[in-house]
Amino acid sequence: MFVKTSVTAVAMAVIAISNLFAPALPVPLDNDIPAILAVEQNPYAALYYYEADKHARYEAYQAANADLPADEVVWRVNAGLDNAFYTSIEAVTDPAAMPVIVNKYHQLASDYVPADLVALPSGRLATKDTCDAYNQMAADARKEGLSLYAASAYRSCELQNRLYNGYLQREGGNAAVVDTYSARPGHSEHQTGRAIDLCGSFGSLNEFIRTPEGPWVNDNCYKYGFIVRYQQDIVPLTGYKYEPWHITYVGVEVSTAMHELGITCLEEYTVKYIDHQPLQTV
Ligand SMILES: [Zn+2]
Repeated sequence: MFVKTSVTAVAMAVIAISNLFAPALPVPLDNDIPAILAVEQNPYAALYYYEADKHARYEAYQAANADLPADEVVWRVNAGLDNAFYTSIEAVTDPAAMPVIVNKYHQLASDYVPADLVALPSGRLATKDTCDAYNQMAADARKEGLSLYAASAYRSCELQNRLYNGYLQREGGNAAVVDTYSARPGHSEHQTGRAIDLCGSFGSLNEFIRTPEGPWVNDNCYKYGFIVRYQQDIVPLTGYKYEPWHITYVGVEVSTAMHELGITCLEEYTVKYIDHQPLQTV
């Protein structure tokens, strides 16, 4: 009751002051007060991607991340990022969807193989769309004197299993370390046939960003439908260290929209523009 009274008092004061400058008040006061109270009590509900069944999780995630704005809380929880990595795992039901989320919470079937794998110039396999987009990008890069090389692209679940376990052995069984740079089997984007690891003129993934090709790909790959999937600003969200060499084909529409919106995280884009659509003003 105290809150209601104080909000009412503040609202009345604001209206009293604004009346000095604007004699006509367009919105009826009686309708406004409940709306103000609702947003005060539930800041998440005002967002178009709010999902009522997740409300308790929003509150829990907010409590653990007090400084995070409400919009960040809601999209992250919707994407399942409030769960620990490799918990609450869901099966990817439509692996051919564009784009598709394959991450530490979404797992491909072990026998999933993309239907339309073709060879990149390096001999690595990728889906036809990915290959066509890559060839166009590589041709344009070449016109600027840059040389791209697809060091890795499609990887089967079985190969990923061997890779991951090899890294695990190298790290003395420390999965927490391996998880920062290698996906567990079924959780690798490489199994979708749409991820490519690029080398530039020095021929090493780790050096890629220090070659002229690295920054060029970072700035231009969206024009061809690619995103740099594990960007520096979202390391805690993806759970992977910065991988400037790993690009993912999401189609030109999505990559361009992400570029224009300034969104680097595919999970964020998916929540805000695929799972939900912004309200259109007529
Ligand atoms: Zn990769």
